[in-house]
Amino acid sequence: MNHKKPILGEFGLPQNGKHMLGSLQYLHAPMRKFEEKDEVDYIIVGVGAAGGILLQRLARAGFNVVGIEAGPFWDTERDWVSDEAGSHKLYWEDPRVTGGSDPLALGANNCGKGVGGGSVHWAAFTPRLHPSDFEVYTRDGVGADWPITYRDILPYYEQLELEMPVAGPAYYPWGHPHGYAYGPHPMGGVGNALIRGCSALNIPVSIGGPVAILSGSHGDRPHCIYRGFCIQGCKVGAKASTLVTHVPDALNKGAEIRDRCMVSRIELGNDRRVTGIHYFDNDGAAHFQKSKAVIVCGYAIETPRLLLNSACPGFENGLANSSGTVGRYLMAQAGNVVLGRFEQPVRMYKAPPAHALTEEFYETDPRRNFARGFAIQTVGPLPIAFGKQMLAAKKAWGWGLRREMMDYNHWAAFGLLGEILPWADNRVTLAKEKDRFGLPVAHVSFNLHDNDKRLIKFAKEKTMEVMAAAGATEVVQEARYAHLVGAARMGSDPKTSVVDKFGRTHDIANLFVCDGSIMPTQGSANPGLTIQALAARTADYLISQGTRIFNSDVRDMASPPIRRELAPPETWGKGVPRLND
Ligand SMILES: Cc1cc2nc3c(=O)[nH]c(=O)nc-3n(C[C@H](O)[C@H](O)[C@H](O)COP(=O)(O)OP(=O)(O)OC[C@H]3O[C@@H](n4cnc5c(N)ncnc54)[C@H](O)[C@@H]3O)c2cc1C
Ligand code: SF4
Repeated sequence: MNHKKPILGEFGLPQNGKHMLGSLQYLHAPMRKFEEKDEVDYIIVGVGAAGGILLQRLARAGFNVVGIEAGPFWDTERDWVSDEAGSHKLYWEDPRVTGGSDPLALGANNCGKGVGGGSVHWAAFTPRLHPSDFEVYTRDGVGADWPITYRDILPYYEQLELEMPVAGPAYYPWGHPHGYAYGPHPMGGVGNALIRGCSALNIPVSIGGPVAILSGSHGDRPHCIYRGFCIQGCKVGAKASTLVTHVPDALNKGAEIRDRCMVSRIELGNDRRVTGIHYFDNDGAAHFQKSKAVIVCGYAIETPRLLLNSACPGFENGLANSSGTVGRYLMAQAGNVVLGRFEQPVRMYKAPPAHALTEEFYETDPRRNFARGFAIQTVGPLPIAFGKQMLAAKKAWGWGLRREMMDYNHWAAFGLLGEILPWADNRVTLAKEKDRFGLPVAHVSFNLHDNDKRLIKFAKEKTMEVMAAAGATEVVQEARYAHLVGAARMGSDPKTSVVDKFGRTHDIANLFVCDGSIMPTQGSANPGLTIQALAARTADYLISQGTRIFNSDVRDMASPPIRRELAPPETWGKGVPRLND
């Protein structure tokens, strides 16, 4: 039966006890509800970028699957505002402790909280990793090799680029050259500045994408209207997030999502297999959900935190942590923002923030004094972010800051995205501090090493050179980091990695990790597309293994057949259904 109107009262809401599924999420029937005493097939911890894909694929393949999500089930119509100050609720702002010689800013700079996770607030820039990223150690003697090659993930890149879908140029020259099926976006002022700067220095530049934002209306989803509120959630629905692309299909295929429920511990049974998860609902009541297998998709901080908080007899240092690598090899990309002032107005808010880039400096270049490389991309900070950047870059304050902010329309911002290598001492551990459920919070320790420092210095100077070549009369920069990944890395050797090439923990046959934390290295590409492609690959593996995941410890390491037919038709057919009768 087709419900032609948004469904009221499906999920519960803190304010009035009703949750309206907005026009972006159309259900054909009320969401399925499992009983806690039911032993479901899969529990997915965290319905974010990766969790949303897994939920959809497994539900479509006929498994009983429940997603447990710490944040709310967003109603895009009611909950989101096109307002910079009003969007903080999209982020994970629960307490965390940061430290090390180069501490990372936590909170709005990293993960999301709510159905869709970080894909709700991401800028949706979707470059692929390069083939070299999968063999960094072999090529350059640094970092680590992946247990898979670019060829293994390629079909999933192609699949996800169509499912979101991604707009970009017909020919993309870097890494493995390829093209995009959907046309590129027109340039905003900041994109034009990048083109001018790169062209003046003979640096090739890609314009109009790749970005998972609709450049033309597509199925039932409207095209982008270029107001620049992408990292505030895109109320319009033109930007892809698993909330609008995959979650509706998952629910229509029988998945359940329990929102505002915080998983506190994974339970290990007597036979070295997990039996379910403990969680707290929004009122603080404790629950236990039984399941045949668990997949942790909680982001590169919360995933290791949960494994460490699940320590138990046999795994005193953290669940699935016989290698001691849970929490280690955490990575962030260098994300310095370079700002330039132009005589003519730029109006950098008038476009998706990320819509042009160059990857000309991506690969290791023996003429430089560091391994690996970086990309230069447009970023379009809105006024509050711009104000913070002026404070950091120019020490602007009081009237001085006010003057800079009144000049906002004349500034352009480029972001460098630099590959910081995986180091064992960059890690997530448990802090003494506890959250509102009494669970130890994450302590994140981060230190730059020599190669990282040399790379950042070079990349910063090159990005400033490009900004000056674009015609900026003043160029300043703010040091920052972006995109945390790693901390539960995949590998072939159980002594040096947490999961195998399909995301299965080496230690426990029915416990998987599948999110950004399994990446052994990170390249200079934004990680979201790779994270979702890995999730689609893990889903194909689980589906191909069938019930063996639930009752056998034998590890079949053969690559699964690619299940293109499991893609949600709604992604291109009925992605943002209208409220028609
Ligand atoms: C401002 C900003 C812009 C970005 N732009 C881009 C971009 O343009 N391109 C790109 O590729 N990447 C971008 N990113 C990064 C991208 O958003 C993340 O890399 C990606 O979302 C991570 O996916 P994930 O599946 O690992 O985790 P997430 O998407 O963060 O999902 C994790 C989910 O798990 C839930 N969770 C965690 N712990 C628990 C628990 N114990 N119980 C229940 N639920 C739990 C969280 O609430 C969350 O919803 C951006 C990030 C930021 C901050
Ligand atoms: S610029 Fe486009 S993608 Fe970004 S919020 Fe506006 S409509 Fe959405």
